[in-house]
This record gives sequence, structure tokens and C-alpha cells, in this order.
Amino acid sequence: MTVSPDRIDVSALPTGLHIDGEWRPAASGKTIEVIDPASEQVLARVADGSVEEGLQAVEAAAGAAAAWAATAPKERSEILRGAFELMMRRSDGLAELISLENGKALADSRAEVAYAADFFRWFSGEALRLTGELTPAPAGGGRILVLQQPVGVAVLVTPWNFPAAMATRKLGPALAAGCTCVLKPASATPLTAFALTDILAEAGLPKGVLNVVTTSTPGPVIGAMLQDPRVRKLSFTGSTEVGRGLLKQAAEAVVNSSMELGGNAPFIVFEDADMDAAIEGAMVAKMRNGGQACTSANRFYVHRRVFDDFAARLTDRMAAIKLGDGRLADTGCGALINAEGLRKVETLVADAVERGARILTGGARLDRKGFFYPPTVMVDVPPDAEILREEIFGPVAVLLPFEGEDEVIAAANGTEYGLVGYLYTGDLARGLRVSEALECGMVGVNRGMVSDVAAPFGGVKQSGLGREGGHQGLLAFTEPKYVAIPG
Ligand code: NAP
Repeated sequence: MTVSPDRIDVSALPTGLHIDGEWRPAASGKTIEVIDPASEQVLARVADGSVEEGLQAVEAAAGAAAAWAATAPKERSEILRGAFELMMRRSDGLAELISLENGKALADSRAEVAYAADFFRWFSGEALRLTGELTPAPAGGGRILVLQQPVGVAVLVTPWNFPAAMATRKLGPALAAGCTCVLKPASATPLTAFALTDILAEAGLPKGVLNVVTTSTPGPVIGAMLQDPRVRKLSFTGSTEVGRGLLKQAAEAVVNSSMELGGNAPFIVFEDADMDAAIEGAMVAKMRNGGQACTSANRFYVHRRVFDDFAARLTDRMAAIKLGDGRLADTGCGALINAEGLRKVETLVADAVERGARILTGGARLDRKGFFYPPTVMVDVPPDAEILREEIFGPVAVLLPFEGEDEVIAAANGTEYGLVGYLYTGDLARGLRVSEALECGMVGVNRGMVSDVAAPFGGVKQSGLGREGGHQGLLAFTEPKYVAIPG
């Protein structure tokens, strides 16, 4: 496969299963169609792997495990560093590929490629910092040695909304820790994962260390992998519903699990906030990826004193965004991923309007081919509207007025999710106080984006278990081993 710095030749991309270093079609000959969300045209047909092929991928990963775990950390570090360099050299082509299969605007895709590559760079460094501990036993007469060893064969399941970054956020630490992997990318966006697989091979990753399986039957295929005793780790990013089901299966086999699940982020604007900064932050928190991010702000709580000003300014900004094919330079918001995603947004908006909500801009899908929904702002949304409970996953901002700090904290926490929260205030003490009170794994204070490869990313409540990124992300792929030493 060649990814030119400028253009991607989709017809030259691999389309098969990647098992033990080879690309091959599914034995059944079955394929999955990859659709361009902007045109609804078929972009490619990729292999539809079976349970048996999933287990062959596990077999290959298990076969490569001992040798990969035994490599010098520096060797693993250099392969990851090489993959980072290759991704950056090909960032234009990769960004175009992401926009093509995912639909997001090119600016979002470029940002994703940089973010995704940065996980390889970060974990290239972390590979060298996999330290242990040696302490005297408090009771005397011995030493406590703690080693961090690779957890073993890891199954990595990723969503379509960040086809590159969700893969590298798992592959970086897994490979750095010395784990071999089976990656199951989302069926909607497998091509980016294939491009990354070739990049890692080119950077020197030995065969069998990374295996990739696409399938239209992820339930049975992943289920069989989890029952295979050679699989020791499940790292999943996706919806809470699917994550819950996988956790049950992982529990049966006592497989170490990390879960990055859905969100329903509150975005709080206090009356003393810098309004220009709050509007900028709101645009990023809402419109990154056209609202299709787990970190996307779903509910904007705005102090009553500044509500009208905020609503008017946000509406102007949202109305000015150009909706269109993600690959066109002037597109600010691309298509949603598929017909189902579009239907979900339409249904949530319709439900709120039926219950009395008012639309300030947008609010109806466009009469054109492609899964397009316009940037939308809503007010007067009643508390029983579904849109306040469900992850919207689209470019719709719901604005709700509030008066008191306790009231807004209670409202923000009134969700089963707990991934991220945002707040804007000119008062640092209040910023810290509210950050501590918000029930979520991450808080952006006067910032509309929290993602950082060096920080622990993850949620509480129904938003997940464990953290990715930072040093914690590496430890998620290790098991501590305690060795008791006399003397
Ligand atoms: P999804 O439907 O849960 O799918 C995620 C992945 O799981 C895909 O690879 C999917 O395969 C696979 N899958 C589906 N059903 C499965 C099953 N029964 N057993 C095993 N695997 C299964 O989620 P999505 O729609 O792709 O992604 C959007 C969701 O991801 C949102 O809820 C978003 O908040 C969440 N997300 C969370 C984070 C985070 O860090 N917390 C980051 C990004 C996204 P197919 O594609 O073949 O169906």
C-alpha cells in the first residue's frame, strides 16, 4: 500500500484480514461495504472475518507474544517513534482518508492525525519508563520487588469516530508494554486502521505482533476471543451498551478489561466567565468532529444573567459553519457517520421540539445526498426531553439556564454518564470547587478540549473503567508481579 503525502489511492489500500504479518481475504469470500458518508457511495469492500479467523488472529498474537515481550524496551520505543515519524510524514494523505471514510471535516482529520501520531511518540517514551519498585519489607527480613510485566495478548476494539486516534491510544501502550494484539476496528472506518497497520510494519513491527480483523459479526467473533485462555486483556472504546455486554463476557473468563464508553458532557458557563473564551470553548467542545465525540458537550448550562448573550453569540457562530463534504477545504462540519446516526439526531431534536423546545438555528436535515445534519442550537428544552439523557452524537447544542452553583452541579451530575465536564469562570477557587464536585473522570476549566496524550483519559459511572494515555495508559497493559526476596 502506498500513502502519498498528498493523496490516498483507496484502491491500493489493503482490504483483507491481517494475520501473522499477511493480508488475506476472508475464507468465506464475504465482505463488508465501507461507505463514504458524504456521497453514500461504496468506497471499498473489506474482509468479513469469521469466528475461526478471529481465533487465528489470537493464535498469531500468542505465537509472537514471548519474543515481543522479550525485546529490549529501546527496540519497542524505536518502532513506535518510527511509526510516529511515518504518520507525520503522511499526515495529509491520512487526514484525507479519515475524512473519506468517516465524513469529518479535513481540519478535524488533520488534528486527529497529529493527536493519533502523538500517542505513538508518547508511548515510545513511556516504553523506556516501565519501571518497578524495590522496597524493604516493613516487617524486616526481606525485600519487596515489584515488576511490571506485559499483561499478554490484548484484544483492542475501536469505534468509528476517531479511526486513527482510538487505535493508536491502545496500540501505543500495548506495544510499548510488550503485548501482542488483535485489533478489531469499527466496520464503518477500517481503512485508516489498515493504513496504520502498514505504517507499523514499515516501522519494523515484527509479524504476528499486530493482527487486524474486520467483521460484520463482532459479538460472536470478540466473544470467542474472550473465551480463548490466551487472551488476557480487553481494551474497548465504544458505546456503553456494547461495553456492558463485553464486560459480562470478560468477567466469565476473568479477562483484565479497560472500558472507554459513552458520555453526556455538561458545559457550564458562570456569570463571571470570559464570554469570548466561553464561546470559543463551546464551539470546540460541541463541534469537534461535528459533535461525534465522546467528549462532546451535550448540555450547556449558562447562568441566567449571561444566557441571552451566550445564546445569541453561539447561534451566530453555529449558523455560520459551512456544512459539506469533509474533504472540501471550506467545510466546517462534515456528514454524520451513517443513516442511523442521522436518524438518532433527528429523533432527539423532534422529541425535544414536541415537548416545547425552540430552535434558534438548524433543526432539520438537508434535502441532499449524504448524512448531513446542520449545526443546531436549541433553548426551552424541558427536563423530560430525551436529548438531555442520551448522547446526541451530532452538531446540536442544547442551552439551559441556571442560577445557583449547587443547582448547576446537581443538574450536571444528573446523568448516568461521567466522562468529562467543562466549566467557564473567572474565579479560580470556584473552578477548583466545581471541578471536585463534578462526577466525571476529566474536567476542562476554561478550556473546551481536554484530550492530551500525556494525561489520563477516561470516565466514571457508566462512562467506563480505567484510563488511557499518560503513564496510567501504559500500566493498563501490564500486570504487577511481586517477588519476595530475603535479606
Ligand atoms: P459501538 O457500536 O459500541 O462500537 C464500537 C466497536 O465495538 C466497533 O468496533 C463495533 O464493531 C464493536 N462492536 C459492536 N457490537 C459489538 C459486540 N456485540 N461485541 C463486540 N464488539 C462490538 O460504538 P460506536 O458507535 O462505534 O462509537 C460511538 C460510541 O463510542 C459513543 O458512545 C462514544 O461516546 C463512544 N466513544 C467513547 C470514547 C471514550 O474514550 N470514552 C471515545 C470515542 C468514542 P462494528 O463497527 O462492526 O459494529
